[in-house]
Amino acid sequence: MKKGLLLVISGPSGAGKGTICKSLLEQNSNINLSVSATTREPRPGEVEGVNYYFLEKEKFKSMIVEGEFLEHAEVYGNYYGTPKAKVMEKLNSGEDVLLEIDIQGALKVKEIYPNGVFIFILPPSMEELKSRLEGRGTETKEAMLRRMESAYHEIEYVFKYDYAVLNDKVDLAVKTIESIIEAEKARVHRQEN
Ligand code: 5GP
Repeated sequence: MKKGLLLVISGPSGAGKGTICKSLLEQNSNINLSVSATTREPRPGEVEGVNYYFLEKEKFKSMIVEGEFLEHAEVYGNYYGTPKAKVMEKLNSGEDVLLEIDIQGALKVKEIYPNGVFIFILPPSMEELKSRLEGRGTETKEAMLRRMESAYHEIEYVFKYDYAVLNDKVDLAVKTIESIIEAEKARVHRQEN
C-alpha cells in the first residue's frame, strides 16, 4: 500500500503557522494532525488531547527513555515531542499526517524520515511578525522579546526546507500548501522510507 504523506510545517513564532494549519485541517478532513506532547502550561481555551497532551516533566522524560517520540525538543524552556506510534500507524495505512513543530524538531524528522514534505512558513515582514506576537497578548514582554529574537535566527533555516510559503493572506497560503500536497502525490520518484 502507498504510504501517506508526512507533512511537516514550521516557521518562526508569529509567522502564523498555527492559523494556517487550522484552516488547512478544516478544509482537508483527510489530513490528520499529530497532537504533540508538551510540559508547558495550557493557555486559556486549550484542550487536553486536542491542542496538546499536557504532561508533567517526569512523565515526558520517561517517554523519551522509552523511545516513544519521533522527535522531541526543548523550546523556550519547555519540552515538546511528537508521539511516534500514532504517526507511523496513520502513514502506514495510507493516511496523511501533519506535524506542526519547531525547526529543531523538523530537522530531526528530516534525518529519520527524509521522504517527508518540509514546508516553512514565512511572515510577510519582521514588522508584521512583531505586531502579531504583540497582538497575541498571551506572552509576557520578556517571552515576546525572546520569541522575536529567535525568529530572526530561525528564518535562515528556510533553506533546509523543501518549500517556503509566504503568509501574507491565510487563504492563499493554504491554497499554496494544497497545491504542494497535490504535486507531491503526483510525484513519480519518491524513495520509500
Ligand atoms: P506553543 O507553545 O506556542 O504552542 O509552541 C511553541 C513551539 O513549539 C512552536 O514553534 C511549535 O510549532 C513547537 N512545537 C509544538 N509541538 C511540537 C513538537 O511536538 N515538537 C517540536 N519539536 N516542536 C513542537
